Amino acid sequence: MDFKGKTVIVTGAGKGIGREIAGMLTERGADVVALTRSAADVAVLREEFGCRAIEVDLADAEATRQAAIAALPADFVVNCAGTTELQPFLETTVEAFDRLIAVNTRAPMIVAQEYARSLITQGRKGAIVNVSSVASFIGIPDHAAYCASKGGLDGLTRVMAKELGPHGIRANGVHPTVTLTPMAVKAWSDPEKAAGMKQRIPVGRFAEPEDVAEVVLFLLSEQAAMVNGISMPVDGGYMIA
Ligand code: NDP
Repeated sequence: MDFKGKTVIVTGAGKGIGREIAGMLTERGADVVALTRSAADVAVLREEFGCRAIEVDLADAEATRQAAIAALPADFVVNCAGTTELQPFLETTVEAFDRLIAVNTRAPMIVAQEYARSLITQGRKGAIVNVSSVASFIGIPDHAAYCASKGGLDGLTRVMAKELGPHGIRANGVHPTVTLTPMAVKAWSDPEKAAGMKQRIPVGRFAEPEDVAEVVLFLLSEQAAMVNGISMPVDGGYMIA
């Protein structure tokens, strides 16, 4: 897959899966515009990948909109930024719930809105990939707000696919299982919990960021020209197990 001459907005490019996607796209010729939070990551992205990097807190709706506008024009969008807080359902706080919805669900909507508006105005085609999770299909203990935020994101993906498809803009979701990133350390550092999860993955391992990035790049590419509105698991068969 060749992305030469293409500009791709990648949110959450500072670490983990987003960083891998930004690196892979850069290697394959794309100009990446990274939207991420930590100043240190912004500096590293500029230096290592030579990409444009915009520092933004995606929990802030207005700042997100301004950052999305500043990132345009772009050919593709990958909404990868995400966050989690572990709380049992009965102890899930309104504050944590709102934070997760803001970053995991609302920010992808805002970024995609600005991107799609600009493409439609210019009569150009494009593609959006939203990084969801197996947690949008499965109830994972201590992940109530996270599961809800990713389920909401899937709803957005499907509506985008229907409303933007006629404009030549495809929207798809990618659903990784546990992927070895800083977020996974936060959620799966208990060895007993991690072993139980791994046992349910037929290929016998957690995902690596590049496993997810390859699928994201495929869904952005012309090879996936007829793929619109899908939820693609990257889970080693976890969901059929
Ligand atoms: P990481 O925590 O490793 O990286 C997340 C990136 O998103 C960081 O660069 C982080 O920046 C950025 N980010 C988070 N919150 C904000 C915010 N408010 N504003 C701007 N940037 C923000 O996560 P992963 O790479 O593991 O996850 C990437 C995506 O994949 C997420 O959507 C996640 O839900 C999903 N996913 C991950 C799985 C896993 O096991 N790792 C499994 C399934 C799905 P900073 O560090 O500066 O806050």
